[in-house]
Amino acid sequence: MSVREENIQIARGHLERFQKHPLGHLIGGSSVETGALFENCSPVNGESLGSVFSGTANHIDAAASAAADAFPDWVSASGKARRQLLHRVADLIVAREQEIAFVECMDTGQALRFMSKAALRGAENYRFFADLAPQANDGHSLPTQDHINYTTRKAIGPVGVITPWNTPFMLSTWKIAPALAAGCTVVHKPAEWSPLSARLLHEIMIEAGLPAGVVNLVNGFGETVGKALTEHPAIKAVAFVGESSTGSAIMQQGAETLKRVHFELGGKNPVVVFDDADIERAVDAAVFMIYSLNGERCTSSSRLLVQSTIYDAFTQKVAQRVKNLKVGHPLDPSTEVGPLIHPRHVQKVMSYMDIAEHDGATISVGGTRTANEGWYVNPTLFTNANNSMRIAQEEIFGPVLTAIPFSDEAEAIQIANDTQYGLAGYLWTTNTGRAHRVANQMDVGMVWVNSENNRHLPSPFGGTKASGIGRDGGDYSFDFYMETKNICVAFDTHKVPGLGK
Ligand code: NAD
Repeated sequence: MSVREENIQIARGHLERFQKHPLGHLIGGSSVETGALFENCSPVNGESLGSVFSGTANHIDAAASAAADAFPDWVSASGKARRQLLHRVADLIVAREQEIAFVECMDTGQALRFMSKAALRGAENYRFFADLAPQANDGHSLPTQDHINYTTRKAIGPVGVITPWNTPFMLSTWKIAPALAAGCTVVHKPAEWSPLSARLLHEIMIEAGLPAGVVNLVNGFGETVGKALTEHPAIKAVAFVGESSTGSAIMQQGAETLKRVHFELGGKNPVVVFDDADIERAVDAAVFMIYSLNGERCTSSSRLLVQSTIYDAFTQKVAQRVKNLKVGHPLDPSTEVGPLIHPRHVQKVMSYMDIAEHDGATISVGGTRTANEGWYVNPTLFTNANNSMRIAQEEIFGPVLTAIPFSDEAEAIQIANDTQYGLAGYLWTTNTGRAHRVANQMDVGMVWVNSENNRHLPSPFGGTKASGIGRDGGDYSFDFYMETKNICVAFDTHKVPGLGK
């Protein structure tokens, strides 16, 4: 039996429970199995992975009440106690590493070569924030001549976490771990197109010993359950990862209850390659950052800006690599690009092939679907493009790259910034001064110089413009999940101006 066949057998074992028993919600520590059912289908072959109970506003109400009831004890537990529990969550994630990876591959279509690390990265998120929990309440001391001002921080309350279908396990841990470390309780709504790994994560958190109601999971659709969560008065803040247009809807939905929001939204990220760059490494990075994770990645380098002196040679090298990419079953260890999440998403991605030709770009590689069953799209490279084309402006969110030439540094910056998005930028040059100059002028939340996207957990992650509001990572996460209080004490009984004496 090939490794691929062996992996498929193992995955069947892990998925059997979801096929036998519809997926319920987890509210106040118990499974709740009520509501209409919807089918969750695998991108690999379109077959059902099982049915899922679709939540309603009543489920959100129950989950928000459970989170509100659990909040007083959780927020007053010691940081050390929270640290211990969150490390236990990480241990249990590691213990179920293979199950999480295989389930995620079959539910999302992401290749095992990338998903095999998803659980470990998720565990790392818990460990990182576990260790910050004992300091989460610490503030600053700000003395003046007459007063001491000092600040303290306290968790804001029960929070909503709404996650998308791309790399759902990792993204959920990235939001939930800091919320718990801060002392918040959580109601989580995962994406309807990939709900399985969220169930594993919540089971693990409950098994680790998080008290009932500290974490709650409600499945279902954005327009109903997601909306109800963002409108619920007991929910004090919403951390959302998804499309920019959904972020805008959530802001409106949360306005009535003055929700604090944290948004990680879409991107149309440039990778800028100057003619003095290390060309081979730049090719590696340009290809990796768009075609890994099927291009279904917010920080994908979907716009390739290349200096005109090397544009033809560089895009030819990229084209050769794109032709060689191994498209196939996500559980085949050699697969580099798997199937896209859903037939509706395939339709969206494929629509850009016509748009590209209509706008005058060249489909240099790809542009077609594969013959396999499942939701596969061949990796695609557009050349002869300019930045005003829709393929350069709109987030396609698939294995599709648009290559655009530029003449000099000023034009590179102008094109890089000419988009509604501002999430990430990548920059390839051996000129140190230019690296700093261009990085400084890129209107994005994160720049990587001579590197692919490399994450250091204490550093801020997030975007500008239509790519987001707020930052994740280290203390930046606590800024969102906590309220800061200032306490001002006079050194001596303060001489207050006496009015009306
Ligand atoms: P989406 O906005 O369609 O859905 C995301 C989540 O929001 C889902 O759980 C969905 O059910 C829910 N939702 C939908 N409508 C809602 C509403 N009215 N109220 C409340 N919740 C609602 O996004 P998607 O298609 O699942 O994910 C892909 C998008 O996510 C891309 O745009 C991608 O760039 C973005 N993303 C951004 C980051 C980042 O860090 N910036 C990371 C990953 C993904």
